[in-house]
Amino acid sequence: MIYQTPGILIYTIAVTALIGLCMGSFLNCLVWRRTNGESVLAGRSHCTTCNHVLGPLDLIPVVSWVALRGRCRHCGAHVSVRYLLVEVLTAVIYVSIVLGFDLTVEAVAMLFLASILICITLTDLDDSTIPDGFIVAGVVGALVFAAAPAIIDDSSMLALLLAWGGALACGLSVSLPLFVLSLIMDRVLKRDSLGGGDIKLFFMIGMYFSWQVNLFTLIVSCVLGIAFSVIWFKGRLETGRQFPFGPAIAAATWVSMLVGPAWIGWYTGLF
Ligand SMILES: [Zn+2]
Repeated sequence: MIYQTPGILIYTIAVTALIGLCMGSFLNCLVWRRTNGESVLAGRSHCTTCNHVLGPLDLIPVVSWVALRGRCRHCGAHVSVRYLLVEVLTAVIYVSIVLGFDLTVEAVAMLFLASILICITLTDLDDSTIPDGFIVAGVVGALVFAAAPAIIDDSSMLALLLAWGGALACGLSVSLPLFVLSLIMDRVLKRDSLGGGDIKLFFMIGMYFSWQVNLFTLIVSCVLGIAFSVIWFKGRLETGRQFPFGPAIAAATWVSMLVGPAWIGWYTGLF
């Protein structure tokens, strides 16, 4: 639908980018509040240094940060460039999803999943944790989106249960073998091998895709994980902190969203 005329296409990209910037700003705030133990829903945004409540002019994504050159208007404290980067990255991810999936229910599902993965990437980078709350939100979302076709077609209860069973089976397709493998590795290595949070993350993501795409995501996340760990350990080997695998899994899922089905079509066409 969005490819009908250049006008519609440009308009859709512009609106999606704007929504992406605002969502990026919201996700930044969500993660900051979770990390610092503040209520996610209550309270107004404030400077993290001087606690001054921020006005509308301080809260425009990207524009505020650039206009104030990354400083608080009231106390001059430095505001991390990370906020800016997350806003821009969210907009880029949102636009890529809408270009790939058009204006469909599937696109909404992918936007929802991507938003959760952005939060998980940030919390995993911050303190090597993947909060269960984000996993639960993702699982609930997957069940809702899996039920969507059955609800739209007004089909039977059986069709709904089958859709949910299918989503759960896809979730387990990669996470269950990984879980068994991690149990064996723990025995052999006599220490924790793969983080439990990563396995739960694979389960949640798996519910949104076919088992073939999930396998593709796993392979890509291993490749990206190795690449990220090289960068990660270059400067921080001495801290001994556990390497956060979440960002690699999230990035691999983005790759899968955009090229996964095409790649699998090519691969199965070989035989
Ligand atoms: Zn301030």
